[in-house]
Amino acid sequence: MSDLLQLTAAQAAERIRTGELEPEALWSAYRERAAGDELNAFTWVAGPEAPAVPKEAPLGGVPVAVKDLFATEGIPSQAGSKILEGYRPPYTATAVERLHSAGAPVLGKTNQDEFAMGSSTEHSAYGPTLNPWDRTRVPGGSSGGSAAAVAAGTAPWAIGTDTGGSIRQPAALCGIVGMKPTYGAVSRYGMIAFASSLDQAGPFTRDVTDAALLLGAMVGRDPRDSTSLALPDPIALPSASDLRGVRIGVPEELTGEGIEPGVLARLEETLDLARELGATVETMRLPHAPHALAAYYLLAPAEASSNLARYDGVRYGLRADGNGDLLHMYTATREAGFGAEVKRRIMLGTYALSSGYYDAYYGRAQKVRTRISEDFKTAWESFDFVATPTSPSVAFELGAKLDDPLAMYLNDFCAVPMSLAGIPAISIPNGLADGLPTGFQLCGPAFSENRILDAAYALERAIGFDGSGARA
Ligand code: GLN
Repeated sequence: MSDLLQLTAAQAAERIRTGELEPEALWSAYRERAAGDELNAFTWVAGPEAPAVPKEAPLGGVPVAVKDLFATEGIPSQAGSKILEGYRPPYTATAVERLHSAGAPVLGKTNQDEFAMGSSTEHSAYGPTLNPWDRTRVPGGSSGGSAAAVAAGTAPWAIGTDTGGSIRQPAALCGIVGMKPTYGAVSRYGMIAFASSLDQAGPFTRDVTDAALLLGAMVGRDPRDSTSLALPDPIALPSASDLRGVRIGVPEELTGEGIEPGVLARLEETLDLARELGATVETMRLPHAPHALAAYYLLAPAEASSNLARYDGVRYGLRADGNGDLLHMYTATREAGFGAEVKRRIMLGTYALSSGYYDAYYGRAQKVRTRISEDFKTAWESFDFVATPTSPSVAFELGAKLDDPLAMYLNDFCAVPMSLAGIPAISIPNGLADGLPTGFQLCGPAFSENRILDAAYALERAIGFDGSGARA
């Protein structure tokens, strides 16, 4: 088993292809590990029987852990919420279906913040997930279960969703790779919605090659999601060994105040590595980036307040007793089924959309969103990529930010601008600070996934991060 655990997903798939490894052996090994998970990373684990995988499938039978909010037919899909307790959807999300047909069967469902609202996975109705580097700390969120499982080696790879950082931030805090593609690259069909204009699915992997492989099997236009689109080129496996001719911009606004010194020190070291690999690295400006968080916390809750209106006790999951009164049944169900953070977002969003406040809040936030997109468009005139820390801090202690929503929201200070602009961004492990992982974020223009993966691959090799510390 320990040998199997050393393999990346791409290596395991290759060994299956050459006949050196039986997919059933890989399945059993990971299934056993997932079933013995001590981090509360999984909310459901598949049975012992290995699913049949077609011989020529590109992902070879390497099982994948899936964030709870992806609808999976007949399997609990609860989005971390009590209101969906026991809900088993009659259909499967397109992303999961595509992975299955590419040869990555579902190993388990992973824990998350309720409806993906949070940055620590502590807002799950099913208890917090622990960080495998230090079990007194959070794995980040909202896709913390997926990140912790991959970092701990209880899953070879995983998928999650990123609305305002929920793939990149937990990847950073757990010392693995996480990527949010261009908005629309992966179908949202069957993803339990949080904020539809921002939600995007993407991979969690041990290295950049695995990220390319997994993402490549998920992307593409889906007639069941009208916002999905075909990428101009298929996702290629990365191969760059240097960064010659690459221009990297480092925004002053996202590399100053509020970022922990250890995180900044690792960023500077990696920027030096980028220079050694042939890149030019220059400071630049994203003038509206400091307003991204404020705009996000109006827009995302506004969309959430509308998306979450469907949980009324009639169609899904929980129904509370209404004493014979329909309206009371609705309110009692929502009172009992939603956690505190979700209720906070619904109230924020409903307020931001209410008549008289719509222009002042929602309308203005949309204008800020446009400005942020324009900042990036200007940046692409002079730079190929923008680099920042992924998260301002390393993993924090469980409970440290639970009573302070603003402190929790600040975790996504560096991740939210890219979400608002709909552009692709990757987080790669960037060495340790205080013994805990930090992340390096690289983003580029829409559809630049292949170039980002290539640059991240060259940097990953130069950084030489060792993630085995979390896989004890
Ligand atoms: N932490 C952010 C929030 O709470 C982002 C979550 C996400 O990307 N799903 O909204």
